[in-house]
Amino acid sequence: MQRTKKILLSSPHMSGNEQHYIDQAFQTNWIAPLGPNVNQFEEDLARYTGAKAATVTNSGTAAIHLALAVLGVKKGDRVFCSSFTFIASANPALYLGAELTFIDSEPGTWNMSPRALARALAEAKREQRLPKAIIVVHLYGQHADMDPLLMLADAYGVPIIEDAAESLGASYQNKKSGTLGKIGIYSFNGNKIITTSGGGALVSDDEELIETARFLATQAKDPAPYYQHSTVGYNYRMSNISAGIGIAQLQVLEERIATRRAIFDLYVQEMNAIEGIQFMPEMQGTFSNRWLTTLLIDPTIFYQKPIEVMQLMDQAGIETRLLWKPLHLQPLFKDAPFYRHNERTSPVSELLFSMGLCLPSGSNLTIEEQYRVIETLHHIFLPQIVSTSSPATQTFSPVSSILSYPLT
Ligand SMILES: *Cc1c(COP(=O)(O)O)cnc(C)c1O
Repeated sequence: MQRTKKILLSSPHMSGNEQHYIDQAFQTNWIAPLGPNVNQFEEDLARYTGAKAATVTNSGTAAIHLALAVLGVKKGDRVFCSSFTFIASANPALYLGAELTFIDSEPGTWNMSPRALARALAEAKREQRLPKAIIVVHLYGQHADMDPLLMLADAYGVPIIEDAAESLGASYQNKKSGTLGKIGIYSFNGNKIITTSGGGALVSDDEELIETARFLATQAKDPAPYYQHSTVGYNYRMSNISAGIGIAQLQVLEERIATRRAIFDLYVQEMNAIEGIQFMPEMQGTFSNRWLTTLLIDPTIFYQKPIEVMQLMDQAGIETRLLWKPLHLQPLFKDAPFYRHNERTSPVSELLFSMGLCLPSGSNLTIEEQYRVIETLHHIFLPQIVSTSSPATQTFSPVSSILSYPLT
């Protein structure tokens, strides 16, 4: 049988202009982790996000590591972090010997719950062990509700690091994602909305913090005529080649966002009528970059769990992915404290993980490919509705209950 090309979740999408900056790097022999492309990419990024300063790194993980380091996180310090996220949000805290506490999601944004954060901070204050930083993640391009989170953080004097690895170009009340907290970080990994083949960035309005991050990223070399070092540094700078790719990618970011949003809209248009399927919300006052279209599959209506749907899709040559497994459920963090959104119900992040699936959403997905995805999903879901329409199975719907939690 003739196999058609596998449809991927989110693959690199070059604009064609990248080669120009790479060629320039070759012609001038700037094949190094510094150079004119690096400087320009940093300036472009600061201009685009509206942050006062930016510095680029060789990964988003490195950027989080540097953000924690410049905020003075040390061995034995506490760091709070969203539980519903990719492991890279939290690992850098372990590099520094810090202790992590995880905060649940809220239904309205799927991101950090202000209610859970309030309880965690109040308890930390009573114990006189406030965290040195709070890492707030904006998953799949959707913004966390920053106003209440910032109010809490300010009240306790704890800085927020925004992990905007998935939300470059998204915004919250017209401010670009990553520029609301003390420091924001981005990722330019191959599957992100734009890519440098691998890379990251820090942005901040505090130019001194960015300057310190740059210093630490280049081995923390003291201003001396020889190699002298007083603090521990890292080799985290982005290469001049990667930065060249980044310059050209940033030029098409707005187009990429428009495409991803159109992909989301088509999924909604073709599938929203199916009872028991719900898409990730977009909170009022926020603008999502719709990095990945994600949906929830109600287990009281469909007998196939997301993991089985993923396997069926794979057999049809289509890559899908489960939502992030919450970090408080990871064996690595089995002893870490965790604060849930609502103390009397299951954690929101666990419900989302058990019901959610990410669909192919790359900006280079063709309309034909997307219809192949939609038709395959229809094949999986539509027959089930007919066979499970007995009233007994529809008395409780976790999907609607998760979305109807009171927000305050
Ligand atoms: C991709 C990602 C990172 C890490 O970025 P890398 O560039 O891959 O190191 C961190 N946090 C989140 C939420 C991510 O999705």
